Amino acid sequence: LKTEIVPVDTLIYSAQKMVRDQLKAKDQNLTIEIDELFEVEVDPDRFRQIILNLLTNAIHYTPAGGHITVVARRRKSDWQLIIGDSGIGIPESDLPRIFERFYRVDKARARNSGGTGLGLAIVKHLVEVHHGKIQVESKVGEGTSFILTFPLSPSD
Ligand code: ATP
Ligand code: MG
Repeated sequence: LKTEIVPVDTLIYSAQKMVRDQLKAKDQNLTIEIDELFEVEVDPDRFRQIILNLLTNAIHYTPAGGHITVVARRRKSDWQLIIGDSGIGIPESDLPRIFERFYRVDKARARNSGGTGLGLAIVKHLVEVHHGKIQVESKVGEGTSFILTFPLSPSD
């Protein structure tokens, strides 16, 4: 990892730029919530990939007109990034498997719009190389949130 100390918002804004056209095409809005700005130690290119994969999923699995939220917050000894959507959700029985390579929920539902099922496996790997963990909460028909937790000083 080529880590650098960067303000957390620059990571989020640069990923947001990359999905601007996709958001516009689906008439979705993206809200970014950062109460208090802080710096994080990450590999910026790889970290942007994490956010991008999660945002791409949020856009893809949320109907037109839906809503996507990105929250970054610092806690005592860690920080969190939460990417939430108002989309189709993931059935509870599928949740344990979505980080597996090539796993996709309901092949029929999974549209022909060709994903491969690798995005979340890559995200999980990149989160782990940043010494973080990833959790998911979801309700079918209501939406999904991915909660990422990282140490504030990963090199300790
Ligand atoms: P790829 O990312 O490789 O193009 P993919 O999006 O299908 O393909 P993943 O990103 O690994 O693959 O996601 C795995 C599966 O988890 C998806 O096929 C989808 O069924 C489900 N999923 C992922 N993110 C969401 C989300 N935000 N809302 C609802 N379902 C999701
Ligand atoms: Mg994906």
